Amino acid sequence: MSFSLDKILRPHIAALQPYSSARDEYSGKEGVFLDANENPFGSISKEEYNRYPDPYQLDIKEKLSAIKNIPANQIFLGNGSDEAIDLLFRAFCTPGKDNVIILPPTYGMYEVSAGINDVKVKKVNLTAEFQLRTQEILEAIDEDTKIIFICSPNNPSGNSLNRSDIDIIINNFDGLVVLDEAYIDFTDEPSYIDRLGEFSNLMIIQTFSKAWGLASLRIGMAFASVEIIKIINRIKPPYNISGLTQEKVLEALEQVDKKDEMVSRILEEKKYLEEQLSPLPIILHIYPSDANFLLMKVTDAKKIYQFLIEEQIIVRDRSKVVLCEECLRITVGTEKENNTLMESLTKYSNQFELS
Ligand SMILES: *Cc1c(COP(=O)(O)O)cnc(C)c1O
Repeated sequence: MSFSLDKILRPHIAALQPYSSARDEYSGKEGVFLDANENPFGSISKEEYNRYPDPYQLDIKEKLSAIKNIPANQIFLGNGSDEAIDLLFRAFCTPGKDNVIILPPTYGMYEVSAGINDVKVKKVNLTAEFQLRTQEILEAIDEDTKIIFICSPNNPSGNSLNRSDIDIIINNFDGLVVLDEAYIDFTDEPSYIDRLGEFSNLMIIQTFSKAWGLASLRIGMAFASVEIIKIINRIKPPYNISGLTQEKVLEALEQVDKKDEMVSRILEEKKYLEEQLSPLPIILHIYPSDANFLLMKVTDAKKIYQFLIEEQIIVRDRSKVVLCEECLRITVGTEKENNTLMESLTKYSNQFELS
């Protein structure tokens, strides 16, 4: 198996002359800036946002480089992880011709992004234990297969996928493997970032939306070879991360311990929540979770979902998703939120027992 980036790169992207922004041509911080048609007087807002932000977010990447132990030129930052996913389709998948493989039940954006880009999706379901069917996945690959999306810990099942299986896929595919590690902070499993050197066809995706608590800022990370990152940088919107977001993320990166502390609290709450949920007669199974949510099989997902909505508690009904029949996905909340949830579920459960 030999991976060649040139082989999967769309020819028009290889030939593309990227937009050259004013900030590309001169990157110094001091000077009289009369090059970008900005407002010289400042901003309407109290804070000043009149200057275009760094298109490559180098300050953030420098900090991330130290935290993640990977060179800055192997990092891409996007307007949410979803931007990185979309850019991969545009760089590597020819609409109406190429295909990607996804492994349901999994994160919905891979298929939506494929649909937007008119790229076919092949599906190979996970096993009943939500693990990879490596043989079937390899058999599904054809000459037009460009990307395989793997999510671990997986959303919505919550479990980590076996590393030996992930290795088999990466090692036996001559296209790109995207490993989505959105929930990696919640597990003891190590990230694949430390193994990027082994695999030239691997891109790892992480996000600031979950453990870091910055979902509203819209910023996601991608880690890959210098060559892959260069391509994505060539086709991204020039100023894809706002200056405000860059400021806030820089602040956050100074407080890794605060993130770690929130993660431990979430994990404690998860354990407690699971202990309380298990005895309820309406809950038939709680799947093992390496993430900040629990997938559980219940007696009647739709009814319980509706009941909770009436109680103003919003969970995710996954019962229409393959292998998730009668399943609800519950994000771990604060102690108070979890208690409110437990009160309502106990109330429903008591009615259920009487009927
Ligand atoms: C939440 C989530 C993301 C994060 O997406 P953002 O666009 O960065 O907010 C990515 N992948 C999975 C599997 C997720 O569940």
